[in-house]
Amino acid sequence: MKKEDLIIGSHVGFSSKEQLLGSVKEALSYGANTFMFYTGAPQNTKRLPLDDNLTYEAYQLMKENSIDLSKIIIHAPYIVNLGNLANFDFSVSFLQGEIERASTLGIKYMVLHPGASVSYTKEQALNSIIDGLNIILDNDKDVTILLETMAGKGTEIGSTLEELKEIIEKVKFKDKIGVCLDTCHLFDSGVDLNNFDAYLDDFDKEIGIKYIKCIHINDSKNLSGSHKDRHENIGLGNIGFNTLIDIIYNERLKDIPRILETPYVALSDNDKEKIYPPYKYEIKMIKNKEFDNKLLEKIRNNE
Ligand SMILES: [Zn+2]
Repeated sequence: MKKEDLIIGSHVGFSSKEQLLGSVKEALSYGANTFMFYTGAPQNTKRLPLDDNLTYEAYQLMKENSIDLSKIIIHAPYIVNLGNLANFDFSVSFLQGEIERASTLGIKYMVLHPGASVSYTKEQALNSIIDGLNIILDNDKDVTILLETMAGKGTEIGSTLEELKEIIEKVKFKDKIGVCLDTCHLFDSGVDLNNFDAYLDDFDKEIGIKYIKCIHINDSKNLSGSHKDRHENIGLGNIGFNTLIDIIYNERLKDIPRILETPYVALSDNDKEKIYPPYKYEIKMIKNKEFDNKLLEKIRNNE
């Protein structure tokens, strides 16, 4: 596929002052044409009221810059865990609120980490996740939950096609459920990314490729099969630049947003206070299909 057809962006902020408008501005500053954000801090439940005027201004700015609202992604906070029966009611009600917020903002997709079994069995956790999704998914709201493929760290659910398949099969509203691939998580879970088409074939056979609605593009600090989940900047990890480029330009995922969640870069090893977003530089490299040996230097110097 051509670089002009790429739908590519990164994780961006969602500030109390500018809300969605600020997110659009940040995405544009990276040369992105899509983006993903948390509607509030991912580690707490504080959520400010949404300002319709800011949302309207954001829509205008998106329109002027050909950003398609229907491709924008919200990421659910990581404090919710539908697999943990002890905290089930909290997770359900908080996610219902997040769906409401997504719907108010006109955003169609919400990425969710399926959950972790913690002190329960895998089967109990899977059933709990399915029950939760069947309560949360609401046919009146046009918001689809995308289950993220996980690295399999600790007791995480969702690092195998079998687990994702079981959840999707038992979810009632099939048009409100999908999958978000994550290259770092796939790699860490043991998938051979040099054979990405073979993975897509398996996915299609088990679940159906049409369920893939988003892909997180990250390199990995760890080795394949490590079950670690630590993201690395594009081309600086163990997946490598060329493998990631082949995945990004894969025709079979043509109309799907590619979202970078790579780490901010610190000014130096001694100065971890000052950190800079890498996205403008990574998007440029991806469009050029050429790794830039001076990537870190350029990010630090804001060139
Ligand atoms: Zn995620």
